[in-house]
Amino acid sequence: MLKYLREDIKKLKAYKVNKIDYQIKLDANEGIAWLNGYNRYPDDSCSELREKLAKNLGMKREEILMGNGSSELIELVMKAYLEAEELVISISPTFSMYKIFTIIHKGNYEEYPLKDMTSLDVEGFIEFVQSKKPKIVILSNPNNPTGTLIPKEDIIKIAQACDCMIVLDEAYVEFAEEETLEEVRQYKNLIVLRTFSKALGLAGIRLGYMIADAEIIDYINRVRSPYNVNSLTQATGLRALENEEELTGNVRLIKEERERVRTRLEEMGYIPLPSQGNFLFFKGEEGLYTALVEKKVLIRAYGGDLKGYYRLTIGTSEENDIALATMEEVRNETGKDK
Ligand SMILES: *Cc1c(COP(=O)(O)O)cnc(C)c1O
Repeated sequence: MLKYLREDIKKLKAYKVNKIDYQIKLDANEGIAWLNGYNRYPDDSCSELREKLAKNLGMKREEILMGNGSSELIELVMKAYLEAEELVISISPTFSMYKIFTIIHKGNYEEYPLKDMTSLDVEGFIEFVQSKKPKIVILSNPNNPTGTLIPKEDIIKIAQACDCMIVLDEAYVEFAEEETLEEVRQYKNLIVLRTFSKALGLAGIRLGYMIADAEIIDYINRVRSPYNVNSLTQATGLRALENEEELTGNVRLIKEERERVRTRLEEMGYIPLPSQGNFLFFKGEEGLYTALVEKKVLIRAYGGDLKGYYRLTIGTSEENDIALATMEEVRNETGKDK
């Protein structure tokens, strides 16, 4: 689907890296090795990772593009599709990088508020998008920071009704009850993004991937920097995919912990929103963040329209216990002051 692509990108050719069997390799100005193999540039096409992911996901290699975190992939979509002054639409509240990337790429950015921060009025959203005529709609699903999951049937309605690219950022999908994936074959304006940073516990290696129609992948690949995913990351990512049982176990544990922490927070009088991510979002007392920082416990505090709201990431049960106990301590201390 070329319809939404930037005009100048339609003519762009990809930077081509030849893969030829060799005896002596003196074609890339690489230095002498002192650490086994790392003197060579990485596999530019991430072929092993894409092969393994394709198999796991039931998709084709040509429908997958790897990125230096999914953050890079959000930017690549904007590089390929967004012309100056064109509009990007998301929901609010949501991941703040969408607005930042849009502004960096000279676009305009608008948000449509979630209802009570817990659900999307899909008909209202579609009307909003149809009247605003954006180039890109980007949705964090489940949504960071509220934990809201837009149901698949609503995602499909949006993809059908909106005359633009729909980017579905599924950074937290492993913690959710539902995923959207093979729909990218039917709805050619749909792009799904995933990451190794959250459920797979590998935020440090910077690895994410995009799943979309092969033609979309082909064009977005043209705006990618060569060798965007380094050799250490590719090797570690492959190891993660070979250790799936352990990772599935971790996801199950986090989901159980999420509900245990929810109960404890409710007992303390907080009201966390329903969450399909590895975090809970709730309204708390002023000064909670600072009081916790003093005890070396970090949670995320929000400002602006979300002043007084906090997001707690679900960690190991030991970490969660310490965080909860510290919150109770803060409760008791501030109680005494009053
Ligand atoms: C954490 C997160 C990402 C992940 O970014 P990476 O670059 O893959 O680490 C993407 N989108 C959302 C909404 C996130 O919360």
